[in-house]
Amino acid sequence: MFVGSYTSARLSLTTPPDCCCNCGAHGPLEFVDTPMKQVRFFLVFGTELTLTEAFPYCADCKRSAKRVRHGWLAKGMVYCLVTSIVFLAVVIASSSLPRFMGDNLFYSALVLSALLTAGYYATRKSRQPGGTYYQPVALTEAWIGGQQLAQYGLAFHNERYAGAMRRANAELIDAGILKIA
Ligand SMILES: [Zn+2]
Repeated sequence: MFVGSYTSARLSLTTPPDCCCNCGAHGPLEFVDTPMKQVRFFLVFGTELTLTEAFPYCADCKRSAKRVRHGWLAKGMVYCLVTSIVFLAVVIASSSLPRFMGDNLFYSALVLSALLTAGYYATRKSRQPGGTYYQPVALTEAWIGGQQLAQYGLAFHNERYAGAMRRANAELIDAGILKIA
C-alpha cells in the first residue's frame, strides 16, 4: 500500500492558552504547531490529509506535538522490521542458543521480536502525570466538500483542554463544522 495524494491545510481555530493541551498544567506555555493526520486507503491507493494547528504546550510536553501515534499498520511494519533483524541475529547466534531455541529459530525470532516490539511501545510514556507521550490531539474525521473542509472532528487527550476548546470554538461547533470529543 502507498499513499498517492497528500493534502495539507492550516486550521484557524481559537486555541485558548488555558493550560497545557497535553498534561493540563498551568504555567509557562508555548504554542507549537501540531500536524494531525488522517490516512485513508482505497485498495492500494491512499490519501493523506494533514491539518495543522498551534496548541499551547508546557516545556515537558512540547515534543509530543509532532509524535504521531502509530496505528496498527505502522506497528505491524515495526514488528516486521524487528523480526527480520532478530531472525538474522538468532541465525548468527544459533550455535550458542539453548536447544529449544536453536531447533525453532523462526518461531523464536517471532516471539522475541513480539516481546521487543511490545516493550518498545510500553516505554513510550509521558514524563508528566496525566500526559501522553504522543500527540494529545487526533483528527477523528474530516470531510472535504468542494475546495474546503466541510466537517471535521478532533479528539483531545486532556478533558479540561477539550472543554476550553469547545467554549472557544462554539460558533464552529454550532454550525456543525467542528466536533470535539
Ligand atoms: Zn504538559
